[in-house]
Amino acid sequence: MEDVFRLTDDLGPAKVIHIYEPKLKLRAILVVDNVACGPSIGGSRMAPDVSLDECFRLARAMTRKNAAAGLPHGGGKSVIFADPKMPDAQKETLIRAFGRAIGDIKDYIVGPDMGTNETCMAWIKDEIGRSVGLPREMGGIPLDEIGATGFGLAASIDVAQEFCDLKIRGARVAVQGFGAVGMHAARFLAAKGAVLVAASDSKGTVADPNGLDVAALIAAKKDERGVADFGKGKALDRDAIVDIECDIWIPAARPDVLRADNVGRLRTKLVAQGANIPASAEAERALYERGIVNIPDFIANAGGVICAAVEYRGGTETGALQEIDERIRRNTREVLRLSAERKITPRAAADSLAGERIRRAMSFRRWTSPGLPVGA
Ligand code: NAD
Repeated sequence: MEDVFRLTDDLGPAKVIHIYEPKLKLRAILVVDNVACGPSIGGSRMAPDVSLDECFRLARAMTRKNAAAGLPHGGGKSVIFADPKMPDAQKETLIRAFGRAIGDIKDYIVGPDMGTNETCMAWIKDEIGRSVGLPREMGGIPLDEIGATGFGLAASIDVAQEFCDLKIRGARVAVQGFGAVGMHAARFLAAKGAVLVAASDSKGTVADPNGLDVAALIAAKKDERGVADFGKGKALDRDAIVDIECDIWIPAARPDVLRADNVGRLRTKLVAQGANIPASAEAERALYERGIVNIPDFIANAGGVICAAVEYRGGTETGALQEIDERIRRNTREVLRLSAERKITPRAAADSLAGERIRRAMSFRRWTSPGLPVGA
């Protein structure tokens, strides 16, 4: 009863499965965390340095995100220990074998994550008839192409205006990580009249207090240029994005970028978390104490998984955008209202909201302890 159960608590995980196929050198882990709300949805991450703990943390984050978004899905995640840049034929064999291995785990619906993409999901669907984040030709809604998560972030920021001294029209925006999430968030906010004053990527930062041309910066990025090579604005080092004076600061890159040692440098009114777990608990507390409104990750960045859930039940792109807008607005309002009313951090409010929904869903199930399949 020792080590293998060290991760369990009152929510889960329901199942932890090791997958090993020596002939193919397939090594993977699947964590199905909690399925009280329905079969779990969560991405499959391929990287050489993934771990069981990372898989569990990400699965738990999906449990909270899906419950908070009111989706009929629990949370799960899988990791494949491999280099995602391996030759295509080898990757196809590995992904198909992984798909076969999870075929019988019906309470896990796999989607794309770092190192996997819509083609990988098409291979898995072909093997077991079940996956999300599919190519358009297979009924998929390409969530990164349409900017599902950036669209949801912009909706959450729209609502946050009610809770801080902020008007999107004319607001100065800084985006850390000008990738799929960051660039679309900038695009949707610019359409509402905001001004992008800085953006960064893994190589550097570009800043212009008078505003950067968002469409031109997206085109440059798609050309494989770094934002610091944009040619307009001032090129700065990567970390300079933290010091940019702005009204809205969006982390959309890596985990743990805001910590106790650097959060004091932020000069903003609002932080809207596009990345997963971008701020430590100490950093979030410091934001709260300084009166900076902070929309937690699983509330603000749920656009992608809402889109995947709509795709799974055969919905359309228009329907997905409507649902993202509606669900994220409602949740952001509820979390920020609860935070103000109870004088707790937005993170504590979001955890409480998600926790209540999960526990209530669990109360409807025959098995009160997680670990048994839905409907068993
Ligand atoms: P992406 O790879 O498209 O973009 C990431 C961007 O961040 C790239 O431009 C990269 O150069 C930049 N970057 C990397 N390290 C950086 C650093 N240290 N400083 C500044 N920039 C850095 O990835 P994405 O899909 O946009 O995802 C970004 C984050 O959002 C990830 O944490 C991801 O887990 C999370 N997320 C993504 C989605 C989605 O729908 N894609 C949904 C929810 C959460």
